[in-house]
Amino acid sequence: MLCPLWKRSSGTSCGGHELYVDAQYHRYYKITLEEAKASVEGIIQRHTDPKVGPVSCTYCKWCRHTLTCSALLDFDKDMKYDLNKPEELAAALLKTKGIRAWCDAVEKAAKEHLGDGKPLDGWRLQTRKGRESLDATEAWRKLGQRIGTDRFFSACTLNLNKLREVWEKDYTEDLPVENLITRAKDSIALVESKENESKSNEPK
Ligand code: SF4
Repeated sequence: MLCPLWKRSSGTSCGGHELYVDAQYHRYYKITLEEAKASVEGIIQRHTDPKVGPVSCTYCKWCRHTLTCSALLDFDKDMKYDLNKPEELAAALLKTKGIRAWCDAVEKAAKEHLGDGKPLDGWRLQTRKGRESLDATEAWRKLGQRIGTDRFFSACTLNLNKLREVWEKDYTEDLPVENLITRAKDSIALVESKENESKSNEPK
């Protein structure tokens, strides 16, 4: 069950990087062959044990059982968390992932139902216009001369990551306009720590 590439390599451990460019967030995983074997065999053992039920985790949203899974449907009897206790707050937060996955699955089923032309009491589909886009080079060719550079660029936004990428292809120095770049107020996001992620992936 282990990765064939790993089997062919002589290494005893394996590492992996997960990069989220927009969020500027990075996760690094390192696992030994023994740890991987124990984890994979544990999952198989629990999966094939009829006495072990599913436990919701961060991956529920990608699962095809979201509409029917007992781990997601039992949330009403589990909603007794004392949010002043850190360990219960963390458990409640993890639970929200499963509930959200179930909610998304219900919404998807309703959209499909209505999309098939079937009635659903109190609900209807409403079309929202798709996002417009226009190739900037083409727009510049057609409009630049007529409305002038300043007015044209007042309607443009720059993709700074792309600009840095283009610049770095030809130059080793920092982008000369770095000091002119302004940054909006940072927003706060809840992201799972590595330990939490591995806990939620533990064999169920
Ligand atoms: S707990 Fe989540 S991942 Fe597991 S079977 Fe249920 S929906 Fe799927």
